[in-house]
Amino acid sequence: MMIIMRTNATAKEIKAVVDRVQTLGFQPHSSQGAERTIIGIVGNNPISAQDQFIHMEGVDRIVPISRPYKLASREFIPENSTFPLDGVQIGGEGVILIAGPCAVEDRNLLLETAYAVQEAGAHVLRGGAYKPRTSPYAFQGLGEKALEMLAEVREITGMPVVTEAMASEQVPLVAKYADVIQIGARNMQNYNLLNAVGESQHPVLLKRGLSSTIEELLMAAEYILSHGNRRIILCERGIRTFETSTRNTTDINAIPVLKTLTHLPVMLDPSHSTGQWQYVTAVARAAVAAGADGLIIEVHPKPEEALSDGGQSLKPERFAELVRQIRGISEAVGRYVPPSKTSKKVEGSH
Ligand code: PEP
Ligand code: MN
Repeated sequence: MMIIMRTNATAKEIKAVVDRVQTLGFQPHSSQGAERTIIGIVGNNPISAQDQFIHMEGVDRIVPISRPYKLASREFIPENSTFPLDGVQIGGEGVILIAGPCAVEDRNLLLETAYAVQEAGAHVLRGGAYKPRTSPYAFQGLGEKALEMLAEVREITGMPVVTEAMASEQVPLVAKYADVIQIGARNMQNYNLLNAVGESQHPVLLKRGLSSTIEELLMAAEYILSHGNRRIILCERGIRTFETSTRNTTDINAIPVLKTLTHLPVMLDPSHSTGQWQYVTAVARAAVAAGADGLIIEVHPKPEEALSDGGQSLKPERFAELVRQIRGISEAVGRYVPPSKTSKKVEGSH
């Protein structure tokens, strides 16, 4: 339920309510809106505690949150949630571009890719260190070595990095190197992992499960939010359907649906949602037209030699063309692509 404070409630009155929530054994989640403070209470049947608050100074009214996800719902936070990531605003008016290889394969290749996508306009570098592969015999990622390479390339280019943690034990290590921790589609309902990234208070890119509903995605986000970690990006990456002509089916509907149901930023991954580079640009355009707050795209200088997902990876020049088109689409829907950081090229490093 939500305790809606009066517009003129004092800090002392707000604190008294927060203290009472804690005394009753619930965790308060405050949201400071433009006009008033809303204090969310989630936990076992907090509605029984309603009478405890209605007579307190500064309280306007008590409203139940009707959705099963509470902190993730727009009922609780009506405005879009935004957070800064190394100079760019996630969830704001800017359309944020995340790009890079599926997996980190080699230091120089990673640096070359980072320079290329940054020059094309990308803001954040992606690259897997721990790879969730269908086959145990496929390339599993370089692990900590890859994290070190990401950190080095981050240092050289100034691009923040996103990389996946596949298990809760990996979270502290990944958090040490990466700016954003990715939770992959296969782990969307790994509740131990969700709790671990929630506790880490590190920004999270949460991908929709292969066969998960939008509500299940929001319930997964709720796990992270329940630990007080609000820096979450939701990511649609295609779902399993009867259609076999593409790797997955892009659920474009998910973008406006999520933007309606939740205040969290929503991005699309057209690489995994299509599985073929030929379709990536068209679907990326559709996502931005549908209101996505950003895109995450696989780019590889030599896709034919990539150790994973080469078939869906764009060459850097094709990515640059995609960015040009995305700028146009963004403007058409009242958004813009913020400038990327100018590459801090170091002598002899490239
Ligand atoms: C990835 O981003 O490389 C990845 C494995 O994505 P997903 O979890 O969406 O399949
Ligand atoms: Mn991939």
